[in-house]
Amino acid sequence: MNRIVPKLAPTLRQPAELVERCLVPASRLADLERVAARYAIAVTPDIAALIDGDDPDDPIALQFIPSADELVEKPGENPDPIGDDAHSPVPGIVHRYPDRVLFKLVHVCAVYCRFCFRREMVGPGKATALSDAAYRAALDYIRSHRQIWEVILTGGDPLMLSPRRLAEIMGDLAAIEHVKIVRLHTRVPVADPARITPEMVTALRVDGATTWIAIHANHPRELSSEARAACARLADAGIPLVSQSVLLRGVNDDAAALEALMRAFVECRIKPYYLHHGDLAPGTAHLRTTIEQGQELIRGLRGRVSGLCQPEYVLDIPGGHGKAPVGPSYLSHVNSRDRETDAETRYRIVDYCGDVHLYPPEF
Ligand code: SF4
Repeated sequence: MNRIVPKLAPTLRQPAELVERCLVPASRLADLERVAARYAIAVTPDIAALIDGDDPDDPIALQFIPSADELVEKPGENPDPIGDDAHSPVPGIVHRYPDRVLFKLVHVCAVYCRFCFRREMVGPGKATALSDAAYRAALDYIRSHRQIWEVILTGGDPLMLSPRRLAEIMGDLAAIEHVKIVRLHTRVPVADPARITPEMVTALRVDGATTWIAIHANHPRELSSEARAACARLADAGIPLVSQSVLLRGVNDDAAALEALMRAFVECRIKPYYLHHGDLAPGTAHLRTTIEQGQELIRGLRGRVSGLCQPEYVLDIPGGHGKAPVGPSYLSHVNSRDRETDAETRYRIVDYCGDVHLYPPEF
């Protein structure tokens, strides 16, 4: 385990700092410099403290420490892998599904994930936040589309905003009569838990709309005691919490890690929500699994852990066609209803042990 990074240290943003703090061997410095010329780096002290610099396969390091593999692009990878641009009527808004929009307020994050699906849009050197005029135009768009029931604040990470600014934004959204839900997607409770101050928690609650928070974590070690305390501050304030994880090779693509992650979420009052199949973001092939591996992991999870711990395994269809569940199927037809003989439709159904049964059963 890394022993050197004190929690009060600044966020590490340069390859040389990662080497200096023994998070990566000096032999990799030149590779890291090449990656840093293209993609942002940020490793907070809380995340750095979780990294075992002596372990070349450390699952936390794989998520945040750059790799030369990021400069290898594979066919099918795309700077806009889930097709945000095709559904963006005004800057900052992605309107893909009828009843909800993404509202991308900022383009900065506490940490930069090596597999990020918006890696071409986030980080220093990109526009850091929406201009005032763009913000007002985005609000006008939401106001004029009465079918928008839910606004999802994403980015970048919306909890990088100050509590004062967040309170203004929450107030602006809650003042729109048809907006009933404001959901924030964030990695901050895990990556920089000290940002979840009482002021931040107060800013997130607003009269007129219900706040939900989706917390992104991929390995059980990310739910450190500090992260758990930050999540508890949100849950204690009555804010419902759900999880988002990405299935990542070497990080959580084994049954024990995935099970421990889902149990940790539930222990923190975070309902497992989505397990995303890795998106086709440029230079991320080394971290992607196959869909078959994901299905096998989900099948195994169903056999071992409580229903509370089951996320939905989803794929964002490239091109902006939305999410589709891609988990295993437990039901198949034996026969369809026969109109002539009036024989009932029969199914084969697989139980949590993998045994196959008929439904309706034969007596
Ligand atoms: S926190 Fe989210 S938006 Fe930011 S780098 Fe990680 S995956 Fe991308």
